[in-house]
Amino acid sequence: MTILLGAIADDFTGATDLAGLLARSGCPVSLRIGLPEKDEPRDGLAPFEIIALKCRTVAVDDAVSQTRAALDWLARHGAQKFYWKYCSTFDSTDRGNIGPVSEALMAALGTGQTLYCPAFPENGRSIFMGHLFVGQDRLDESPMKDHPLTPMRDSSLLRLLGPQVKGKVGLANRLSVARGADALKARFAELKGQGIAHVIVDAVADEDLATIAEASLDFPLITGGSALAMPLPALFARAGRLSLTGQRFSAPPVTGGQIVLSGSCSAMTRRQVAHYEGRAACLRLDPLLLDAEGTGAALFWLRSQSPDQPKLIYATAEPEAVRAAQDRLGVERAGHLIEQALAELALEAFRLGVRRFVVAGGETSGAVASALGVSRLSVGREIAPGVPWTYARKDGEPVALALKSGNFGTEAFFSDAFDVLEAR
Ligand code: ADP
Repeated sequence: MTILLGAIADDFTGATDLAGLLARSGCPVSLRIGLPEKDEPRDGLAPFEIIALKCRTVAVDDAVSQTRAALDWLARHGAQKFYWKYCSTFDSTDRGNIGPVSEALMAALGTGQTLYCPAFPENGRSIFMGHLFVGQDRLDESPMKDHPLTPMRDSSLLRLLGPQVKGKVGLANRLSVARGADALKARFAELKGQGIAHVIVDAVADEDLATIAEASLDFPLITGGSALAMPLPALFARAGRLSLTGQRFSAPPVTGGQIVLSGSCSAMTRRQVAHYEGRAACLRLDPLLLDAEGTGAALFWLRSQSPDQPKLIYATAEPEAVRAAQDRLGVERAGHLIEQALAELALEAFRLGVRRFVVAGGETSGAVASALGVSRLSVGREIAPGVPWTYARKDGEPVALALKSGNFGTEAFFSDAFDVLEAR
């Protein structure tokens, strides 16, 4: 199998988001967690290979070396085109890491131009005249303005990217996109003639993304949120490089017990937890109690539940409660205690016969997946835009995992997730 698209994602749930949108095509999508340790035989490869890294907020040099290593792995396995996936809210600072990584990947691939399109219209992220919107709000007026690690205080992608890169930044605006793929291609060439290496591209609807993906089909590297990749399977099929009816992914039946583990405190997750509370046996984790007494009581609670019964274990809390715990324990320790507790509970749940896991929270998902020792996932049906069921094997047994980043999904996400799995 040839890798038609080798993607590198800067965080874990961002990778599952991208994987879910590519898997809409029905084609096999493989998601590897962290840099693969060894080479994969050719018949083990999928046409869409995604490597999930954790490099959104690490030091620039670290992000560059992680992504370069991922690119080398994908290139060594024959990847024909590359994708640098970051958040649809362009989470970054003046130092990076979006721009420096792009420039490092461009240098490695010997290409002088790439494009940037974090739009995800289905989830309310759009770009107009180079400004990024979240719903109807400019990025800098959205809740992202207060993000603890990457506060976004401007909405102009040109101004945000400019300080991050050495090369020149330019714009292909909506008017160019609206004229179609050939006109947009000409605009890219025109910008290249002006020495523009980094092209921000407007997109307000899925049709725009289709035009942009087509116009940049020959680019060795494109960069963006997840949605720009969505048109690629159909474009590869049209070019005769992929059969959409050929090898389709078929999800294995996963019938063991079920659990929801939530370590996300995002607004949507709080609503999802409240919605599911009346529908499942529930246990709330308190970081202060975990600090004082460890995980014994939670493990005892879990062992007294039947594996098949709907269960929810959550640390999800309102901002004041999170702040209070962080003031007492420190931000890092509070987060770490919960992530480690949920990871330990996931492992115990597996031992008790649970095989279907829904996990809320990006960091939380990373902690749970690594505790379960899962390093490669096959990607199945989406539950909500950007959140697919994924499948792995643990100790020879199939396991299904839905890994949801904080703000994704609707209120009924947790029950919907199991319905989608059953309707497989
Ligand atoms: P999201 O995708 O919503 O950002 P994450 O799992 O990435 O969710 O991040 C949430 C962080 O908050 C995790 O580190 C988690 O351990 C921590 N956390 C969860 N609940 C609490 C709480 N009650 N008090 C303090 N920190 C918490």
